[in-house]
This record gives sequence, structure tokens and C-alpha cells, in this order.
Amino acid sequence: MKIHEYQARGIFASAGIPVPRGKAVSTVADAVAAAEEYARPVMVKAQVHVGGRGKAGGVQYAENVEAARVWAQKILGMDIKGLKVNTVLVTEAADIVTEAYVGIVIDRASKAPVIMVSAAGGVDIEEVAAKTPEKICKLAVDPQMGLRAYQARDLAARLYRDINLVRQAADIIMKLYDVYWKVDASLVEINPLITTPDGKVVAIDAKINIDDNGLFRHKEIEAMRDLDAEDPSEHEAREGDLSFVSLSGNIGCMVNGAGLAMATMDLVKHYGGDPANFLDIGGSSNPQKVLTAMRIILRNPNVRAILINIFGGITRCDDVANGIVMAYEELRPDIPIVVRLTGTNEEEARKILKKVNLESAATLDDVVKMAIKLAESDAANVGRVA
Ligand code: GDP
Ligand code: MN
Repeated sequence: MKIHEYQARGIFASAGIPVPRGKAVSTVADAVAAAEEYARPVMVKAQVHVGGRGKAGGVQYAENVEAARVWAQKILGMDIKGLKVNTVLVTEAADIVTEAYVGIVIDRASKAPVIMVSAAGGVDIEEVAAKTPEKICKLAVDPQMGLRAYQARDLAARLYRDINLVRQAADIIMKLYDVYWKVDASLVEINPLITTPDGKVVAIDAKINIDDNGLFRHKEIEAMRDLDAEDPSEHEAREGDLSFVSLSGNIGCMVNGAGLAMATMDLVKHYGGDPANFLDIGGSSNPQKVLTAMRIILRNPNVRAILINIFGGITRCDDVANGIVMAYEELRPDIPIVVRLTGTNEEEARKILKKVNLESAATLDDVVKMAIKLAESDAANVGRVA
């Protein structure tokens, strides 16, 4: 789960990481009030779940209250990489001498949190990572030992020469690791971590992604969820108790069981196709779930064919078939659907599918190849196909 910069800043501030004062507001009047309260230049910053806001024009310096008004007017409602800005952070503008990068992510290769620091921080960090990766220094932290003070100091010394700055940065890195650990983050990031003319190290951007599997332990963070900022399909799937992940392909997949869903996607790839999503309808056979799943798949305009693969064990094929018929009648999909149902109550399921002229393919290979062929051809407009 992603949270907004202002929320991440709040968590950083509680952990003792220096961040400038700021207020999240959703109206121009409130933005003006915040700028008046600070009575000095402010930044007006779009709060959307995407990086590169600065380059997209969503982070602006306002010299005075009038400028803050103008920028708030411009940025509220702005579209940044397909996301609408509903909230801006009005924060005291900092004077910047240097911009560094500090981030912590879980690294599956080293099976540990990895801290990354670079003196070349700021809006071009992706380019630094791609072109001059030697400018990024990494340290894998032993999760049992935790981060030791000398390690944090060593990392901080890669950023600054001045011992005064090194001490502050080391302290910030220790606190950032604490935050990372305590909130079950999958990523925490400060970019940029700046130095000011009076020798202070300050975090002026804040990013925290939470590992969804740890969310149940953090009700206060779950409460930060901004539904307007999330993919509506992923939200609907969560509410409907379905596991769903959007992908970039054109074959909508509906499968029962995560393992079978992965195997189905592997086979789609194997035969040269491209899945539009991962979707596990779970072990139960509630027809309502099939309907929700179908609605989510059909919302994606890239989908050219739907592949349904059900292995009936506890899941009863006839229940799923009823769900498919219900979804078919309610949603009237105008793209081809291919089905493979096998296992418990398979025969009944076949009879039910006949009602909407669908037939179950014989094997998984068959159904996958059929889905790929249909997604590639212009037959994606012909309607249903067995
Ligand atoms: P991002 O583009 O989404 O990462 O947004 P950031 O919050 O990192 O802001 C982008 C850039 O705007 C920073 O790298 C800074 O160069 C600049 N910026 C952000 N806040 C301030 C500030 O308080 N003062 C000044 N002078 N520049 C800022
Ligand atoms: Mn940033």
C-alpha cells in the first residue's frame, strides 16, 4: 500500500527525522491560509501516488501568499501521470545547498533490507541509477542484528565530508531504518535529503510503501488509505475478497487458486501471449465473486479476450458456471471468452454454460492457445466463442 508524502512526513517527524512544517489541504482557501500562517516562501506540492511530481509541474515554489494561491489553483485538479490531484501539501520552502538520496528496500537477492545512499540525489536519481550506478552506495542490513551506528555513520560519510553533516545524516539513517522496520515497509525513501546554508540536514520529500501482508498490524496506517488515489479495480477486488494484480497484457485471466493462476499465466507467456492481470477468485465458488471478477476484468480497455480456468475441488464447477452465466447476462461482454472447467460437478457446469453458448475446452493447452489467438485477431469483436 502506498501513502502520500504528507502522511509519510508525519511518520518521519514522529520518529524524530527533521522535516519542514507543512499542511495538507484540498482547497485553495486552505492553501492560502497555510501560506499566511507560515509567513514565508512555501512549496505547493501535489499529493499523488507517483514519483516525478516535480518534473511534471506538481511541485512549485511560491515566494508569497499570492503565488501560493496561484499555484494551489493550478495544481489542485491537475492530472499527473493519469492521477488527479485532490490534495496539496503546503510546506515551508527550504534553502537547498545539496540534494542527496537515502532509501531502504527489501532486497530478495540478499534476503535483507538494503540501504542505498547517493550524494547525487534529487529528481534525476533514476538516471544516476541507470547511467552511473557507482554513485549509489548500498549496504545490506542483517535483519537480526539491525542497523549498527557505525554502519549508519559509514553510509553518511559517503554523502558528506563535514563531520557535522555526517553526524546528522547518520542519525537520520538510523531513524529511517527504525521507521522501515516498525511499519513493515517494503520501501522508505528520502529524495532529496538536503543540506541547508546553516548546516542542517533535512528531509524535504518522504515516501513509504507498506507491505500489504503486514498491514493488519497497522490499523493507523490502514486508515491513511486514500481510495481516490488507488486503482479502482484493485480496491474492488480487495472488497470482493479476490486477489488481483493489474498487468500490461491483453488476456484477462480468471482462475481459482493462486498456484493455478500463476501456472496459467506462465502458459500464456509460454505460448507467446500476454496476461492483462493476475486474478485468483479463491477456493469458494460463490457466483457473486465470478461476477465481480468479470466486472473488474472488463473494466480494462486493453483486454481482448478472457480466459477462465477453473479446477474444481472444493470449488464446484457448476457454481462457477452459474457465476459465468450471471456475469454474461448482466455485463454482456463484447469480447470472446474461453473457458476450461474441470473437476467437481464438471458435467453440470457444461450444461449450464450451454445456456450462453459457451463450451468448456478439453485441456489447459487448448484454452490458452485459443485465448491468445482470439486476443491477437480482430475476432476480439465477434462476441462469444467456446
Ligand atoms: P518529486 O519530484 O515527486 O520527487 O518531488 P520532490 O518533493 O522531491 O521535489 C522535487 C524537487 O523540487 C526537489 O528535488 C527540489 O529540487 C525541489 N524542491 C522541493 N522542495 C523544495 C524546497 O523546499 N525548496 C527548494 N528550493 N526546492 C525544493
Ligand atoms: Mn522526490
